[in-house]
Amino acid sequence: TPAFLSVRDLHVRFATEDGTVKAVDGLSFDLERGRTLGIVGESGSGKSVTNLTVLGLHDPRTTTVTGEIHLDGQELTRAPERTLERLRGNTMAMIFQDPLTALSPYYTVGRQIAEPYRKHTGASKRDARLRAVEMLEKVGIPNPRLRVDDYPHQFSGGMRQRAMIAMALVCDPDLLIADEPTTALDVTVQAQILDLLKDLQQEFGSAIILITHDLGVVANTADDLLVMYAGRAVERGTVREVLRAPRHPYTWGLLSSMPRLSSAVDEPLSPIPGTPPSLLAPPPGCPFHPRCGYTAEVGGERCRGERPTLPDGRGAACHLGTERTRTLFTEQIKPR
Ligand code: SF4
Ligand code: MG
Repeated sequence: TPAFLSVRDLHVRFATEDGTVKAVDGLSFDLERGRTLGIVGESGSGKSVTNLTVLGLHDPRTTTVTGEIHLDGQELTRAPERTLERLRGNTMAMIFQDPLTALSPYYTVGRQIAEPYRKHTGASKRDARLRAVEMLEKVGIPNPRLRVDDYPHQFSGGMRQRAMIAMALVCDPDLLIADEPTTALDVTVQAQILDLLKDLQQEFGSAIILITHDLGVVANTADDLLVMYAGRAVERGTVREVLRAPRHPYTWGLLSSMPRLSSAVDEPLSPIPGTPPSLLAPPPGCPFHPRCGYTAEVGGERCRGERPTLPDGRGAACHLGTERTRTLFTEQIKPR
């Protein structure tokens, strides 16, 4: 049987004045209910575009989507807008980085949680308000009976993020997509929000896609991991597998640019040299080759000429091969 969410050979292209941008270039992954998939990559890696496409929020006038997306057996890339609209907020919901893009300043927080609930369930105003209070309580807002009548500006940043989570979960979605949900928050609040997402997942049993540029965010929150680069998945595995023994040089770069909580505060971070490639004219062969320090290991022109493929299941899209990456990671990367 197919997975609850199954994405197969997804291509997303934008028409721009300068040419066609291949924002997502042949992406496949599966996600089951009750599991969290972390999608990690720099901006422009295609991680946000992938998820906007799943939600059907791309602009059909400028965007071409091919491939297949199945959610609970239903194909989404060819689904009419009316179907997608019904699914959004009901079967699938989203949380964004900035709560102020989702919350209107003109309505009370309670009303904004109650409205989608009324719309999707036909509940009475009174019941929807009670449900809003209940949701605010679930996401840890103190005095929810009073705070339900507050406006977003009366909430702190962390509380607004909690309110947005309440809004996303009010219809008990089966799929929750969280795009950089904690980036704007300080470290303590960030940890609280991630814990909250985990707890709520246990209660609601939803599938979660957690999009982030920060491996630290997925380390304690996600079950499975997909590392994206230049519109392609370059590594996949369980979070444990990828963090213990990452196999792609790009993942090594992400790891060494991640602050380690256990080490001295002043440990210098080593960001990955170079910048992500233009998606108007992506480099031939391995898209990471202009930034990769291991092309000589592969020998000759292979990295520049031949596109490495990502196997299903655990693996990396790299010509180095599993054995060589294991040795390199142990000998060169890990001791740093
Ligand atoms: Fe680096 Fe070559 Fe592997 Fe690409 S295929 S990540 S360029 S070693
Ligand atoms: Mg993004």
